[in-house]
Amino acid sequence: MPSPFHFIAYKPFSTCNPLKDGRFNQLPIIINKFLSLLRESSKNLIWVKSTHAQIITNSLSTDQFVATKLVKAYSDLGSLEAARYVFDQVFQPKGLLCNAMLGGYLQSGLYRETLEFFGLMRSRNLEVDSCSCTFALKACARSLDCEMGMEIISNAVEKGMEKNRFLGSSMISFLVKFGKIGEAQRVFDGMPNKDVVCWNSIIGGYVQAGCFDVAFQLFFEMHGSGIKPSPITMTSLIQACGGIGDLKLGKCIHGCVLGLGMGNDILVLTSFVDMYSKMGDIESARWVFYKMPTRNLVSWNAMISGCVRNGLVGESFDLFHRLVRSSGGFDLTTIVSLLQGCSQTAGLATGKILHGCAIRSFESNLILSTTIVDLYSKCGSLKQATFVFNRMKDRNVITWTAMLVGLAQNGHAEDALTLFSQMQEEGIAANSVTFVSLVHSCAHLGSLKRGRSIHGHLFRLGFAFDIVNMTALVDMYAKCGKINLAERIFSHGSISKDVVLWNSMITGYGMHGHGHQAVGVYHKMIEEGLKPNQTTFLSLLSACSHSRLVEQGISLFNSMERDHNIRPTEKHYACLVDLLSRAGRFEEAQALIEKMPFQPGTAVLEALLSGCRTHKNINLGIPTSDKLLALDAMNPGIYVMLSNIYAEARRWDKVDYIRGLMRNRGLKKTPGYSLVETGNWVHTFFAGDNSHPNWEEIYHFLESLRSAVETSGYVPDTSCVLRDVDEEMKVRMLWGHSERLAIAFGLLTTPAGSLIRITKNLRVCGDCHIVTKYISKIVKREIIVRDANRFHHFSNGECSCGDYW
Ligand SMILES: [Zn+2]
Ligand SMILES: [Zn+2]
Repeated sequence: MPSPFHFIAYKPFSTCNPLKDGRFNQLPIIINKFLSLLRESSKNLIWVKSTHAQIITNSLSTDQFVATKLVKAYSDLGSLEAARYVFDQVFQPKGLLCNAMLGGYLQSGLYRETLEFFGLMRSRNLEVDSCSCTFALKACARSLDCEMGMEIISNAVEKGMEKNRFLGSSMISFLVKFGKIGEAQRVFDGMPNKDVVCWNSIIGGYVQAGCFDVAFQLFFEMHGSGIKPSPITMTSLIQACGGIGDLKLGKCIHGCVLGLGMGNDILVLTSFVDMYSKMGDIESARWVFYKMPTRNLVSWNAMISGCVRNGLVGESFDLFHRLVRSSGGFDLTTIVSLLQGCSQTAGLATGKILHGCAIRSFESNLILSTTIVDLYSKCGSLKQATFVFNRMKDRNVITWTAMLVGLAQNGHAEDALTLFSQMQEEGIAANSVTFVSLVHSCAHLGSLKRGRSIHGHLFRLGFAFDIVNMTALVDMYAKCGKINLAERIFSHGSISKDVVLWNSMITGYGMHGHGHQAVGVYHKMIEEGLKPNQTTFLSLLSACSHSRLVEQGISLFNSMERDHNIRPTEKHYACLVDLLSRAGRFEEAQALIEKMPFQPGTAVLEALLSGCRTHKNINLGIPTSDKLLALDAMNPGIYVMLSNIYAEARRWDKVDYIRGLMRNRGLKKTPGYSLVETGNWVHTFFAGDNSHPNWEEIYHFLESLRSAVETSGYVPDTSCVLRDVDEEMKVRMLWGHSERLAIAFGLLTTPAGSLIRITKNLRVCGDCHIVTKYISKIVKREIIVRDANRFHHFSNGECSCGDYW
């Protein structure tokens, strides 16, 4: 290999010093030699330094031209200090040299230094041209300094520099980035000779701003003015197709791209992968991806995130393994996509590994941390989610919402609402998703007061008429026992043809035992031309079941496939079995199970078993529970139901045996609890609970209620106690049930005559149901109890369920 130092080797420094030799007329030749030497050595810092040394010895370091080349050589190697040293030696540096220095800072990502140097150029009255402004503007764009950028632009416009194509394009990109599309259009209109870069900037700008039709219009104008589109132009248009969601148009552009001969362009093909997967056409995305002649990390990332977006999480991991095997390189975007896949599938174990990998390989940022909070929330690992959340320095609305949804969905509704107050204190504006999860939290807690306050927030922020929020509100008011408020919201929203909203109203009526109204909403829905879906029929069948509308239910079930082309799923069969066995029509229920097109699963059998318990049908109950345990031996609910059946038949030996089984298998019955809202608090009570600060007062008051209901004729139904203890003990246990504690506390702490709302996580027991009816008459109060199945509206000694639940 010829050494770039052959020049040095043959001619010592002293002999080639033009000043000493008096060979001034040979100066241009010598400079050229240095320059070619610099060009050759430009990849090695030592060589540049040694050339620099020769230049100094030859007293050429203050020459504008040589210095410019030196600055460039040093900047290309990242030695900005050396470059600056060269620059500082030159008296009155000219434009080219200044721009070389400025470009050096920009290229090394030193945006603050770039802008400082630009300031220095202005203050020393050095030559500032359109190229300097372009560099400075780019530094502003990358460091998100909008104010400085706008100042540079207005200065440049004053001097008429915006007509320069490079500066003009940069100005457009800058203005677009900060959302000033109108001003970008003005700069664009003022440019005399627009090249493809200018067109790309403005077209890309409109796509970024979401004005897709304007982008297409400009594309046609560009075509009309005879400018050939570049791959970047096509990438913007492909992105626009994705934004419009028009697959046909996207395929049209695809054809156009092939016609333009860009069928092998990696940038364009990657955009197609992204576009197709965003529109759910994963087939086409795959087709493009696997046909790509070469792929870069961006293309792999597009395919991986496309799979995740379309629920193909397994495939995304396969792709990841192939990526690692083929090139070994992945980046933060890859990891974030895979983490999102894990949260979709609740893949906690894999998610944890990726989390560890992300911590080791990448600096934490907002997107990564938010994805991790979301992952742990969705997987129910709230401790880890909280840990990551609390350690984050920056949190945006998406982070807060991820944490909030996690709390709400894992039953920590109270904490979700507390977190929301904290979010407001920090001045983070909630979005629609935040509100939906908050409204669901209120619904879960049965907290009407908070639900109303969230509704108020929604109203003030203008979100209250958003259809998703309206649906959540209908659900919330129905679950909080305010079916009339749910109706009111529904009547505002029902002009929309949103099936989910209509379904939530049907469900609401069903929960309240208003079966006829539920069926009425359904008929109206058909009249309005809406197409019912599977959920509609689930809600309807369950509404019929809770209102004893057996014939209605059967005929609706039969109409599903016949009139609406909806094949009943196992859940629908389970609803119908529930309807029949609740009504004691076991033969029909069994016949239905026989002719089902699939083997009965847990849902169907559980419905049958529950009917057996209600009707004390021990003969059918036992074989049913055997079948159930064969399917799902780890479900404590089945054991509890079976032991209840035995207990009601007073077969205590069997009850003990089943309890023993549960213990051996490490299963625990879900503890029953009741919630009551008074003042600003939601109070929780468990059976026999004495953890409440006012517990003595509560039990004392319950005693007085007990003697009052007993004198009114109440006889305890001790068959509700599923333990083999003496009668006195059974009655004592009944009076410790959580719903009674909650009712007593509610009566003690709310004004006379006001309504009391109780929420219970399990089904209300028969004896509490009787007692609550008596209490409502004696204290002249309305009591609404929402249990796991439905609402009981107690008033003046009666319940809205007609003792049928
Ligand atoms: Zn009870
Ligand atoms: Zn009832």
